[in-house]
Amino acid sequence: MKKVISYLVTHIPRKYLIRFSRIFGFLITPFYLGHKHKCPICNGSFRKFLPYGNKGSDNRLCPKCLSLERHRLLWIYLNSYSNMLITPSKVLHIAPEQPFLKRFKKNKLWTYVTADLESPIADIKMDIRQMPFQNEEFDLIICNHVLEHIDNDTLAMQELFRVLKKGGKAILQVPIDYNREVTYEDESITDPKEREKHFGQYDHVRVYGTDYPKRLEKVGFRVTVEKFVQNINPSDIQKYRLDPHEWIYIAEKP
Ligand SMILES: [Zn+2]
Repeated sequence: MKKVISYLVTHIPRKYLIRFSRIFGFLITPFYLGHKHKCPICNGSFRKFLPYGNKGSDNRLCPKCLSLERHRLLWIYLNSYSNMLITPSKVLHIAPEQPFLKRFKKNKLWTYVTADLESPIADIKMDIRQMPFQNEEFDLIICNHVLEHIDNDTLAMQELFRVLKKGGKAILQVPIDYNREVTYEDESITDPKEREKHFGQYDHVRVYGTDYPKRLEKVGFRVTVEKFVQNINPSDIQKYRLDPHEWIYIAEKP
């Protein structure tokens, strides 16, 4: 059974897993119930999480809500380290993540808009480099693991800045290689296999380095790097299966 599950979650594209997540969770969850691990998003208790990723890395994906480490950390941030969820706001969620979607929709304090180039679960279809919104429309933008897919991310950052109100904030998570000081990109590399080799995934167009906040600051943002994961005790890091080296990047429009 373990092999079958491992094969399924590493071979079915995430967009299909997401589309059939309820059925998938219903079928898979009973095999994973236990007390060792807990998902802070769906409150499920499991003996372990599902494997996930190119190499089928163990113990990563919540069987019930399909959250990964990065979703669980952001959920903890939103609930315990920020007042974003309890502040009346107009919120734009780009490339909405399934584990958050129904929970954000239920938030009565938020006017909540979702958008994406192709996601079947988004309200508005759009290109992040040319968004169909007025200047200064949103109090909060959530846009995670998107910019590494976008040619000319400066245009996308400028658009995010434009549609955000003054004093508004954007949560802009991207994968970062902390061994690189300078972001690596090369527009001539377009073949999926080459992109995987150079940028780590077939549909990534760059690898961000530790200069990522500087790139955001260039378009006008003021960036805060939230490192609260360092204060979470190791047993909770294990229980929730978090990445102890993941920082959260909050870009504010001054
Ligand atoms: Zn969960």
